[in-house]
Order: sequence, then C-alpha cells, then structure tokens
Amino acid sequence: MPIQKKWLASGSSYATPYYDFQSQRKGPTVMVVAGIHGNETASIQAAKQLVDRLFSQELALKKGRLVIVPVVHQTAYRQRIRGIPDLNRTFPRRSGKKAGHPLSSALYQLAVRIGPTWYLDLHEANGLSQIRASSLGQTLITNPGNRSIPQARRLIKDINRTISKKSHHFNLRLHELPGSSRTAAARLLKARAVTVETCWSLAKADRVRYQIYLVKGFLRKAGLL
Ligand SMILES: [Zn+2]
Repeated sequence: MPIQKKWLASGSSYATPYYDFQSQRKGPTVMVVAGIHGNETASIQAAKQLVDRLFSQELALKKGRLVIVPVVHQTAYRQRIRGIPDLNRTFPRRSGKKAGHPLSSALYQLAVRIGPTWYLDLHEANGLSQIRASSLGQTLITNPGNRSIPQARRLIKDINRTISKKSHHFNLRLHELPGSSRTAAARLLKARAVTVETCWSLAKADRVRYQIYLVKGFLRKAGLL
C-alpha cells in the first residue's frame, strides 16, 4: 500500500506531518484529524496509534484513501493547551470566505484538495453526556441533516454494548458550530462530518480505546476496512 508522509503548513512555524494511505482499489476518501486542540491527548494518541498500525500493516485498507493528521496544532500540543485563539472557531464560515488562522487555512485547503467523503475530527470534552444533556464528553457530534447520522447512530449502539458502565455510554448530538472544522467540512465540503468527543475524566487508556474503536467503526462503514 503506497504510504506518504507529507507536511501541512510546510515551511512555516506551524508545520506538522500528515499521512496519506492509498489503497490500490478505488473507494471513498476518509480524512481523520486530531489535535486541533493541543490538550486533548487521547485523541492525538489514538490518531498516532492508527498511523503506526497502518505503517506496520496490522491495519490494511481494502479500498479508498485515508488521510490522517495526528497533531494539527503542534505548538499547542507541546504546551498541552487548547490553543490561542481557539483554532476550532477559525475555519471558513461561508464558501469563498477565508480561514482566520494559518493552520486552519492549511487544513481546510488540504480537505478541499482531497474532497473527503467522510471527515472525522477527534476531540475530548468535560462531563458525561449520559449524566447531563449539555455535556459533550462521550458524544458523537454532527450537523443537523448530515448524511452521517444513520451510521453514527448505529456505531453508538455498537460501542455502548462494549461499555459496561452506563454512565460512560456515548450519545449523538446534532449541532451547528460556525467556524469549527466539522461544520466547514459538513456545510462547505458536503462531507459526512463527525466530531468524536471522549470524556477527559475517564482513564486515558479507555479514552484512547474508544477513539480508536469509533474511527475504525467509521472506516468499516465507509468500506475502507
Ligand atoms: Zn476539542
């Protein structure tokens, strides 16, 4: 399987690697990004582990193309901070509008070039959605009307069967968040776009496992695995 390590925002202080896995068989393109927020470490670790498993061929694509950006905001990640300004409010809000930050601009341009069928944005959040409806921890989020909704619902059923503590179960949220990478992918690129949010207060190993389970689940639904 041809694999390429490439650079986003190359030549700038924001340069960060991404990985382009292309199967020999034609199929959908899936884009996975983590580390838009530098302190959401389980999602970053999950994306890095997926890259490692693809390199070692423990995971192999049946068809299509998978592009993974494991750490979008390297400088925020090094400091383990969310990032200033919040990168996830700087993506284009309307077609023809520019992104408000060099990194979101580079990431969005990459997404425009590859035209993903699926766009998965990995994050972490406070609180458990099962306990409080307003909490985003343990959720999949997409935009109202997004074509990912049926698959996201099925995947939540699948993962919840593997989680014995009911308070740790995942829920679906439909939300419009202008300036976020998911909303830009959903509205401007017409992608099936989903944000994965694990809950910060859970054990790190569990959060990484949930993130990997959900990304692999979407890859299976897209036919790549
Ligand atoms: Zn986040």
